[in-house]
Amino acid sequence: MSEPLAVGGSADLHAHSTVSDGTESPARVMQQAAAAGLWGLALTDHDSTGGWAEAAAAVPETGVVLIPGMELSTREGFMSVHVLAYLIDPLDEALLAETAHIRESRLTRAEEIVRRIGRDYDLSWDDVLAQTTEGATIGRPHIADALVARGHVATRSAAFSGILHPRAGYAQPHYAPDPLTGVRLIRAAGGVPVLAHPGTRGAERVVPHARLRQLVDAGLFGLEIDHPENREDAKPRLRALAREFGLAVTGSSDYHGTGKPNVLGECRTAPDVVERIIAEGRGSAPVAP
Ligand code: AMP
Ligand code: FE
Ligand code: FE
Ligand code: ZN
Repeated sequence: MSEPLAVGGSADLHAHSTVSDGTESPARVMQQAAAAGLWGLALTDHDSTGGWAEAAAAVPETGVVLIPGMELSTREGFMSVHVLAYLIDPLDEALLAETAHIRESRLTRAEEIVRRIGRDYDLSWDDVLAQTTEGATIGRPHIADALVARGHVATRSAAFSGILHPRAGYAQPHYAPDPLTGVRLIRAAGGVPVLAHPGTRGAERVVPHARLRQLVDAGLFGLEIDHPENREDAKPRLRALAREFGLAVTGSSDYHGTGKPNVLGECRTAPDVVERIIAEGRGSAPVAP
């Protein structure tokens, strides 16, 4: 038996790279984690584990512990719900099949959104591909970057509040399993599931009590309460739910490079919670220097 890994500091457990909609490579994200003074970093690209190898290769030079992760897209009706998945088995067949399905649907959906926008704005699919790393999980941020490159909007955020907002009539959802299926898939793949940014829609729209009970029964580990986009009015309710259900509380930045204002390390998870995640994860292992 190897010694359990001693957690020597706080960790940022939610960050994106060019493998999904972040603007920095996995190695760059690891370097920035070192610069931010983080003990550990979880790379959590949307629906993909494609950045793990590059991030792991950067562990020795950066001295930062990599906690392999993913942000699984799920959907409850029209509402997109993200579930962070730590230490999953990257070769688990059921999870691989599901993420392949989601990525395929993200692609056809993005093509359709671009077709619709193209009726009113000068924008082609090639414009989007020019903003996308090969093999990356595609999303609206790549379309946003293409809109910026074409001069239709000034920033990603402006694209999200304008042309890419569902209100504008171009965007549409992609396929995703429901959150309960997502939590079950993550646990079955040996992973530790945490509900991502559950307070972004305010106190009135946090996950209903009965729904949360189902997710907890299926193995939900925690709630990402300390997140730059969770609304302050939602946090007391979320903390009360975490206490009631015995859920862990995590904090993370949801870093997307220059694609979002989120600063790496601005929110962090306490060492004892990181330790419990590592103890529960069975599908893969942290990579330490
Ligand atoms: P999608 O996955 O295509 O539905 O797009 C949602 C993604 O876009 C999420 O990962 C968000 O982090 C990102 N996103 C949402 N709003 C913004 C924004 N205002 N600026 C930059 N990225 C955003
Ligand atoms: Fe994202
Ligand atoms: Fe998310
Ligand atoms: Zn995210």
